[in-house]
Amino acid sequence: MMVEIWEEDVREWPVLSFNDITDYFVNVPACDDQPNHNYRSILEGQNYFNSNWIDTVYHKYRSVQCRIIDLKSKVRYSQIIGREHDVQITVNKDANQIIDVDCDCIAARGKCCSHTAGLAFKILEANKQGLIGKACTDMAMVWN
Ligand SMILES: [Zn+2]
Repeated sequence: MMVEIWEEDVREWPVLSFNDITDYFVNVPACDDQPNHNYRSILEGQNYFNSNWIDTVYHKYRSVQCRIIDLKSKVRYSQIIGREHDVQITVNKDANQIIDVDCDCIAARGKCCSHTAGLAFKILEANKQGLIGKACTDMAMVWN
């Protein structure tokens, strides 16, 4: 069995823009092959991030050669304090493109949900603050 090693380092996160995020949650086809048009996920995801409901984010590359990165975190339930969802998104770092999302909530069956969007918005904020790709670790370590 392969041992999964997840790392905590904001500097390794993908450089996602707001458009990269909406591109996934709006344009990517859902189960019915129609575009998701999940504007609600985008609004609620920003809300979750602003409410500090996105826990520490860890990442792992799919392989040494490829630039596909998995990022995971825990996101608090909206109604029940103390309960969390396990959330993961997969990004192609070269294209700055979200290629997959995963969450243990019911909405994630439609290939996107507010919780995964929340994680994406945490990555966006790290990008806005210039923490991604930074040489100095101090600020990045404290922030996540
Ligand atoms: Zn979810």
